[in-house]
Amino acid sequence: MNCAESRLLLHAHADGELDVANSLQLERHLKTCAACAAEKKSVHSLKAALRQPSLRYDAPDSLRKEVRRIARASANDTRPGLFQSLLLWKSLAFGATAVALFAIVLRPGSSEQDQLASEAAARHVRSLMADHLTDVASSDQHTVKPWFNGKLDFAPDVKDFAAEGFPLVGGRLDYLKGRPVAALVYRRNKHFINVFVWPAGHTGSGRVAIEHRRGYSVINREINESHYCLVSDLNEKEMAELANLFER
Ligand SMILES: [Zn+2]
Repeated sequence: MNCAESRLLLHAHADGELDVANSLQLERHLKTCAACAAEKKSVHSLKAALRQPSLRYDAPDSLRKEVRRIARASANDTRPGLFQSLLLWKSLAFGATAVALFAIVLRPGSSEQDQLASEAAARHVRSLMADHLTDVASSDQHTVKPWFNGKLDFAPDVKDFAAEGFPLVGGRLDYLKGRPVAALVYRRNKHFINVFVWPAGHTGSGRVAIEHRRGYSVINREINESHYCLVSDLNEKEMAELANLFER
């Protein structure tokens, strides 16, 4: 494991979200690398600082009432148990994380989207590790597109956007939402962008959602009956530019 890979995993490690194999590799690296060990220390101090009682506060009554109202309104058509679980919060003190969680829960139907964003960000991080960014490395769309033949039950639209500043790097097979998907890899200066593509569940084209996970932006967009999920540490504006290129 090198330092770049170690830095990608430090936050997940601090949150106890890392699998055993990666944890062991990371810990081995931390023993030999003073710089990364110092970074780990600073991540842990930040976590400790955020846990301070002075940063905690109770949710105001008005917010609780609003959550109950929304939960009641959606109790008939969304996940059962949501209302009950929200009631539990009554007795909780809220930290910054809980407030972020609120923002997610308040958007009806967001749980599936939320899970997709987390999964996509994890696949993105994984692709940057262990030299597995591409199965087929080529900037030629006529090489990358046919490579997917027979590997997927659909043919992803593969285009090189070098002229627009997003050169195609290659493609690989990946797995998202319990199904194989095409992962197209693009580059913008020093940033890599994974574009996961699979057939859209419905033909309602045009839906866009932007989420953030561990410093990565995830843009989900349905274009021409395909679902495009873009993940990168690139800024949102340039990622949206790339998403727009697929719509052309
Ligand atoms: Zn290091």
